Amino acid sequence: MGKCINFLKSLTLWELLKGLGLTGKRLVTRKVTVQYPEEKTPQSARFRGLHALRRYPNGEERCIACKLCEAVCPALAISIESEVRDDGSRRTSKYEIDLTKCIFCGFCEESCPVDSIVETRHFEYHGEARGDLLMTKEKLLANADRFEEQIASDRQAEARYR
Ligand code: SF4
Ligand code: SF4
Repeated sequence: MGKCINFLKSLTLWELLKGLGLTGKRLVTRKVTVQYPEEKTPQSARFRGLHALRRYPNGEERCIACKLCEAVCPALAISIESEVRDDGSRRTSKYEIDLTKCIFCGFCEESCPVDSIVETRHFEYHGEARGDLLMTKEKLLANADRFEEQIASDRQAEARYR
């Protein structure tokens, strides 16, 4: 029976007609294709893109080198070294995130007690050499300086929904 049905389907070009029917249906429905990069889809305030290390408004680094983010990172992408400053405060002497290992899970962001390491909404970046995707402390601080306005407004929006 099954063989007969398959034979009839082949004879009448059933699969082809079915495909053409679907194409025809889409011709009259609303287009959903987005012409990226000219057009962009809306983004969540919680979008997990490029990392940044934030500062306080006075310019001081937020990070206190507690290493919680390093401990929680499932991809072992973060490496931190710390030192004690002359004023007794502890800060990182090295903070690196290897984006070739990162899975953008957001655990580092969640674990940070001082809201220092965050994931910005920026995702349009690339690397041409291996080291380009190694985010050093300097690069991460520069990212925060660049996106601070959006990071702060996203944090405020998030707080309103808690
Ligand atoms: S987003 Fe996840 S994988 Fe990437 S650095 Fe943070 S904790 Fe590690
Ligand atoms: S970024 Fe946050 S969690 Fe990571 S070491 Fe600094 S203070 Fe600790």
